Amino acid sequence: MLRDSRATLPSPNSVALQLMRLVDRRDVGVFEVCRVAKTDPVLVGKAVQLANSALYAGLRPTAAIEDAVMRIGVAALARLAVGLSLVHVHGTQFGGFELEPYWRRSLARALVLQQLARRRHALPVSEAFSLGLLAEIGQLGMLAALGPEALGDAQTEARQLLEQQRRRWGFDQVEVSAALLQTWNFPQRLWLSLLPQGHNQQDHSELAAMVDLARALAAALDRQHALRELPGLWTGALRLGLDEAALLQLVEQLRGDFAELAAILQLHLSHEQARQEFDSLRESLGTPVPDVHGQPAVVLLAGAQASAREDLRLSLLDAGMTVLVEPDLGAGFERARSSLPEAVVLGADELPMEAVEMCRQLREHEGPRLYLLLLGDSLGAEDLLRALRAGANDVLPAAAPADMVAAKLRPGVRVVRLINALERERALAQGRQRELASLNARLREAAYSDELTGLPNRRALDEFLARAWEDALARGRPLSCVLLDLDHFKLVNDTHGHDVGDRVLRSVARELQRHGRSDDLLARWGGEELVLVCPGVEPHAAAALAERMRAAVQELREGLPAVTLSGGVAQASASEPDAVGAMLRAADRALLRAKREGRNRIVVDEPVVAPDPAADAAPA
Ligand code: GH3
Ligand code: MG
Ligand code: MG
Repeated sequence: MLRDSRATLPSPNSVALQLMRLVDRRDVGVFEVCRVAKTDPVLVGKAVQLANSALYAGLRPTAAIEDAVMRIGVAALARLAVGLSLVHVHGTQFGGFELEPYWRRSLARALVLQQLARRRHALPVSEAFSLGLLAEIGQLGMLAALGPEALGDAQTEARQLLEQQRRRWGFDQVEVSAALLQTWNFPQRLWLSLLPQGHNQQDHSELAAMVDLARALAAALDRQHALRELPGLWTGALRLGLDEAALLQLVEQLRGDFAELAAILQLHLSHEQARQEFDSLRESLGTPVPDVHGQPAVVLLAGAQASAREDLRLSLLDAGMTVLVEPDLGAGFERARSSLPEAVVLGADELPMEAVEMCRQLREHEGPRLYLLLLGDSLGAEDLLRALRAGANDVLPAAAPADMVAAKLRPGVRVVRLINALERERALAQGRQRELASLNARLREAAYSDELTGLPNRRALDEFLARAWEDALARGRPLSCVLLDLDHFKLVNDTHGHDVGDRVLRSVARELQRHGRSDDLLARWGGEELVLVCPGVEPHAAAALAERMRAAVQELREGLPAVTLSGGVAQASASEPDAVGAMLRAADRALLRAKREGRNRIVVDEPVVAPDPAADAAPA
């Protein structure tokens, strides 16, 4: 369709085309190529300059086209000729399309690709240069053939634009770029590298990655889009093995080469503008987390009334804001959710429900992180209230002067940013607090638990006992404890080694824990001795529980040597000045009795009689 179009496509001059044809013929030598090239003095001049330029740094200067052609290569010269003959800035605009930034990007892309080619030896540098220069020539092709509407509005995101183009015309500008290069006899490998990865064969992927990075870097030179491009830029660079320092060095190099190459190509580009762009890109790259306060405010003009205000758009752009435009209210809502503007100017006639509803939804979704200004005509007090209640920050007449709207937006965005900054701070602080809390919990756990068994340690036991006794006294409830001790444990160590002894201890601790009640505390007293504290429980019930534990341990195997345990049970008495200490001493006495009476049994301190271990104990 594009090729059938009567419009003038970007086309190389006849010398360039003649050269392209010569390249295909094997019998043609440098002399013949130079003869053709010499019919275009401008080309000769540019070729010689190029051969002496930074592209071929380190080689001796030459003044002859023959030398230049040998240096650049015949095929590369032909492709350069194509590129050079296409590059000219016809004034600054072409059907509303800004040509100067276009060629500035193209030159930046060419330089990036040329630098990458030099580093990675993926293709000759002059080939890389031409490829970069013409990588987006399809944009001019679309423009020439289909008119400015083919390129969407300046704020349309690249991927979205390509999709729109494919829907409407069946092809996109990237495909047109590739097709044009193909027409001009560029090798398949080069034009294939322009297409998305899906089109590529494996061996082209490195070149495609280079093209992607060149595109992203050139796009990021546009300050307004830098933030959007940075993530792609970083991943692209990393894919090619460039770290932060290498990427910054690359930008530095570009900055140096830019003016020289622009002069050779006779591109009358603003060097000051280019210098500023490189500086700001370097800055963005050097700041890991972009400081939003220095960035232009992003404003979305949504709805027919607001988006029709070209004066407003220009005035906001003038005020250094980034302006997104979306005539359709419904689409505006989606856009506000996806592009995250800091302010939305909603323009609506007579405040239809749709606009009020959109205010409400935006406020609901974005909270205070959005300044919402409503433009509307013939709004009564009732309408005004409705809009403000729905979440609008302010309402102005539809015809409000652009500078008044800008004057409302500026402090609005400042407040939004302040809120965002505070929220970030708070999130950070909360994060830190959570970290601290969990650290404290971990420290506490470490301080209060025994490393080997994970059971509460002696310190935890002491605190628990003190609280439990206070509670027992206050509520007039009993407090019992059982001192448990593994029988002949020294023998286990001596026979199987200390490691096996440790594993037995751990396994016994796990088993005992399975039997405890949620109010009880099982702690490691030290060595192979454990304490079970049973608040609210009489000694005979505690003994019954301990008896069940004893029986379970006796059965325990888990591939470990069999062990048994003995236990002494005691109750705390208010008549003792040191009730807890006395209870533990009494339990120890009972334990001693259990050991003496043959081990593997539970003995209750006098005067309470222990249940018979042989009989099945009653549940606690
Ligand atoms: P009894 O039936 O009289 O209690 O005999 P026993 O061997 O268990 O008593 P004794 O108090 O003589 O020895 C306790 C042993 O427990 C001594 C020590 O080797 C062992 N032990 C204490 N703590 C640990 C430990 O953390 N790991 C291992 N593997 N052994 C321990
Ligand atoms: Mg012991
Ligand atoms: Mg022991």
